[in-house]
Amino acid sequence: MAPRSLKARASAGAAISIAGVVLAAAALGASNRSSLEEKASDDRALIGEARRSTVTVELGSAVGDVKVTEAGTPGRPIVVLDPGHGGRDPGAKGVSGSTNEKDLTLAFARELRDELASRGRVRVAMTRDDDRYLTLDQRAEIARRLGASAYLSLHIDSAPNPIARGATVYSLSDVASDSEAARLADKENRDEGLSSVADGSVRGMLSDLALREQMNASASLAERLVRKSAGRYELRPEPHRFADFRVLRHAEVPAVLFEAGYISNSDDEALLLQPEKRAQIVLALAQAIEADVASRMIR
Ligand SMILES: [Zn+2]
Repeated sequence: MAPRSLKARASAGAAISIAGVVLAAAALGASNRSSLEEKASDDRALIGEARRSTVTVELGSAVGDVKVTEAGTPGRPIVVLDPGHGGRDPGAKGVSGSTNEKDLTLAFARELRDELASRGRVRVAMTRDDDRYLTLDQRAEIARRLGASAYLSLHIDSAPNPIARGATVYSLSDVASDSEAARLADKENRDEGLSSVADGSVRGMLSDLALREQMNASASLAERLVRKSAGRYELRPEPHRFADFRVLRHAEVPAVLFEAGYISNSDDEALLLQPEKRAQIVLALAQAIEADVASRMIR
């Protein structure tokens, strides 16, 4: 179905349609943070109406358009999918020499968006839907401004050890679960737009209590992802790990970073390049996200 394009009136700097989105602009540190609100309008889709439409959300100074899709009933929770890297940041290189992490993360995110949209239980926003560069804080900003119910940052791992393979799910913590997790967070936290990373500081704005709640909710999302994934595709030993990821901390919503496998392993790379193999992972992720969001809605 062709997306219907709806442009919501951008009054008061912020408007989200209930029927899907084009997010225009995710500004860092913009002052209208609290003004983001759902705005009822003529663009509202009725229950049972054909959907997959888009609107514009004004969040501040523009970094470009980000697409959000809804396939189901209006008013469903928003899930933000963040394909890692992009533009001048290719991410890890595949062992074959022809694969870039940024392309695979985008393929995953698009497939997961389409799966979630077709199931219709959540609305889906993407931090990027093309080959563009976004800072970590811009990515986190989109989740935060939208008040996302879940944020999933998608990555493909890489290691010097060519036999390392399998998927890992990371959630936020002050202390890393292991030295490898700490190294990965260090690598993923590198962002040329940020000078504060040099001193290792990835402090966010949340109070200790709110941060603790974010960490707990994120850990339970990660656990659910692992449970739904077990037996369906290759996971690493102890697949749920913890570290201080800047993008997760700054999202300020339940957030995980998913490493779908190792692009530095020839078996994993070959699997990740096959859409039908990705579909197994995508289905597990979709089911876990839906179950997690639903569990937090009824509490
Ligand atoms: Zn990455």
